Amino acid sequence: MEPIISADTAAVRALAPAVCFVTMGCAKNEVDSQAMGRDLAAAGFRFTDDPSAADVIVVNTCSFIQSATEESLDAIFEAASLPRVEAGDAAIVVAGCMPARFGDDLAAELTEAAAFVPCSREDDIVAVLVGITGFRADADDSLPARPDRAESPVFAYVKISDGCDRFCSYCTIPHIRGRYHSFPFETVRADVEREVAAGAREIVLIAQDTGRWGADLPGSRDLAWLVDALADAFPATWFRVMYLQPEGVTDRLLRVMAERENVCPYLDIPLQHVSAPVLRAMNRAGDAEKFHGLIERIRAAVPGITLRTTLIAGFPGETEEEFEALCDFVAEEPFDYVGVFPYSREEGTAAYDLDGQLDEDEKMERAQALRDVADTCCTPRVAARIGRTMAVLVEGVEEDGQRFGRAQCQAPEVDGVTYVDCGEPGDIVEVTIADTLLYEMEGE
Ligand code: SF4
Repeated sequence: MEPIISADTAAVRALAPAVCFVTMGCAKNEVDSQAMGRDLAAAGFRFTDDPSAADVIVVNTCSFIQSATEESLDAIFEAASLPRVEAGDAAIVVAGCMPARFGDDLAAELTEAAAFVPCSREDDIVAVLVGITGFRADADDSLPARPDRAESPVFAYVKISDGCDRFCSYCTIPHIRGRYHSFPFETVRADVEREVAAGAREIVLIAQDTGRWGADLPGSRDLAWLVDALADAFPATWFRVMYLQPEGVTDRLLRVMAERENVCPYLDIPLQHVSAPVLRAMNRAGDAEKFHGLIERIRAAVPGITLRTTLIAGFPGETEEEFEALCDFVAEEPFDYVGVFPYSREEGTAAYDLDGQLDEDEKMERAQALRDVADTCCTPRVAARIGRTMAVLVEGVEEDGQRFGRAQCQAPEVDGVTYVDCGEPGDIVEVTIADTLLYEMEGE
């Protein structure tokens, strides 16, 4: 889909227009917003965090499941109801997954938007905003430039690839993001260097499928090589790998994780299910026995490693027995953290047409039952850390002066935090875990 610019919203401004990003969805979208923000900053645009003060509101949408699409639509409608937008003094640009997924149909329906920029065309963001605003000058300094990173200043996400070739039957991502493509090492390294220079002490490597990094590049470099090279080049920085499919867990990667102190001994491996028939219907490999073996291999290679997974409850055709088997697996093979999602039936995916669709209540009930099993198994694992000494990266200070951060066993935004009594944001401090409450830890 080409970027579309509606002429009637174009307004030439003397000053550099102020842009406000509203980013929906996951960390990968946040990285994309930051990249667009950098391009716009280089072109002289200004930034504001206040949508009501913006000349252009860029809503970077998520639409991988229906609920995410609805949240993105709500954000667009909220922006459309702002007085400056209603008066025609500010424009809305819809970027990211929604225009990629729904194409021209969206442009016909969403007349509130002045332009659409699908993920594959985000490099065009400057041209699109120039088209809308008529702006072509250097920035003035009456509004602050957009901070380079929106999240905590002490960690940053760095994308190492985009797209996916796996075509899991329930997933819209390959249709939205296109085929898998690794970013060259030089690009990844430059992104890491920029974030470290800006103060990041932890880099979280993300992609739809991190384990495939390098497979489409010349030579024999793989994820293990990449992590090793980055950890070597930035020895004072923690590195963490997220979204690693089971097939991506290589012995080489585990060795790097075991040997390098600045590579977090942490793996996020989305299994999605453990029943072979359900996994085949999902167009995924594996079964409970193979996954038990995989976890055994990981724990033997990296003792004390922290493991996270995500699971889908209520997939079409999932029988009571298969669901029980999934609960049993979680109970027998306690992960440290488990994310559970009810199956979401998405138009345009192969699973949409499968027989045996469960009703919404049943999917919700199964998801909640699985969450309960996971909580019962995972929280004692967190409590078992009491008495252990850990390095904690201090992230911030609450209003009452309470400091908080994360240990290497806690990924940002999903695994809770550790409260500490020393250090400033950006410091890495040694603490002994004195107490835990569900997924939170307290160190002293
Ligand atoms: S590996 Fe992940 S992104 Fe790729 S199709 Fe499967 S669920 Fe979607």
